[in-house]
Amino acid sequence: MKLKISSKKLELKHTWIIARGSADFKEYNYIEIEDAGTTGLGEAAHNGRYGESLGSVRAFLEQARPVLNDANPAEFYNLGFEIAQLAPGQQAAKAAIDMALIDWNAKKMGVPYYRWLGLCVQQTPVTSFSIGIDKIEVMQQKILEADSYPILKIKLGTSDDEEIMRAVREITDKTIRVDANEGWTDRHEALEKIEWLAGLGVEFVEQPMPADHLDETAWLRQRSPLPLIADEDVKTANDIPALAHAYDGINIKIMKSGGLQEAWRMIQLARSLNLKIMLGCMVESALGITAAAHLSPLVNWADLDGNLLIKNDPFHGMVVKKGKITLPNATGLGVQPIY
Ligand code: MG
Repeated sequence: MKLKISSKKLELKHTWIIARGSADFKEYNYIEIEDAGTTGLGEAAHNGRYGESLGSVRAFLEQARPVLNDANPAEFYNLGFEIAQLAPGQQAAKAAIDMALIDWNAKKMGVPYYRWLGLCVQQTPVTSFSIGIDKIEVMQQKILEADSYPILKIKLGTSDDEEIMRAVREITDKTIRVDANEGWTDRHEALEKIEWLAGLGVEFVEQPMPADHLDETAWLRQRSPLPLIADEDVKTANDIPALAHAYDGINIKIMKSGGLQEAWRMIQLARSLNLKIMLGCMVESALGITAAAHLSPLVNWADLDGNLLIKNDPFHGMVVKKGKITLPNATGLGVQPIY
C-alpha cells in the first residue's frame, strides 16, 4: 500500500489552557493509505505530555513506510503489532496508521466500522463538552456558548479551583465532571477538594493525582465520595491491571492507546476488571473524533468534543446533536475531507 503524509494546522476557537500549558492552534500529521483503488484516512494528534511532536510523529511514519509498502492492508491485525514494535511510544503516529487501516478495510467490506463491530448506532452516549481553564468571566462565557451540551467537563487543578467551581455553579446546574489533569499533588488536599466537589453535584473526578502515584490514588479512592477515573495513568491495556485497585474507571483515548484496535482490547480488559469506561480525546479533528465515536456504544461515558474546539476542521464526520453522538451513515469511518 502507498502512504501519503501531510500536515495541517487546526486553529482553536479559544486559547486552550489546562493545568500544564496553553495553545492557540495545533498542527498535526495526517495520512492516507491507498491500495487497490481504496483510501484510508488517519490522524496523529500528538501530545507533548507523552514525548510526541510533529517531528517525532513524522519520523515514526517514515520508519513505518517500508513496512506498509510491503504489506497487505487486509492483513491489518498482526501488521498493527509489527508497526507497534518499530519504536516505543509515538502512540499518535501508531493511531493514525491503525485508523487508516480500519478505514480502508471497512470501506472494502462496504460497511460502517460500527456495523463491522456489531454495534447499534442508536446506543451512542451523550458527550460532555470541555471547558478549559481561563479567566472566570471567560469560563462563564464558554459555558453559556456550550448551551446545547447537557454535560460539561470542567478542567481544574489550579490554585483557583474553588473560585472557578463557584462561578460555574452560579450560572449552570448541568451535570458536571471534573478533570484535575494531575493538578493536585497532595492526597489530603485532593480529598478535601473532592469532598467539596461532591457537595456541588459533580459526577466524577478524572486524574486527581500525578500519574504513577497509584498508592496515593488508592488511598484517595478508599475515602473519595466520587468515582476516580484514570487518564494520564493509562495508555494501553498493559497499564490497566496495575491501576485497577486505585481507580473506578479509565479514560481511553485512541491517541494514547495507539489506535482503535488497542482501544477495543482495553475496553474488554477494563470490563473484565469491573472498571467503568470513558472514551476521551485530545484536541483532534473530526477524523480522530469520528474514529473513536464508532466505539462509543461500548462505553459508560463519552468526552468526544475535541473537534468542537476547532475553527477550521478539515474533515466532516460524526455530528453532535444536543450532546448526543450521531455517527455518519457511510462505509469505513464515514469521514469526508473538506480541504
Ligand atoms: Mg483528562
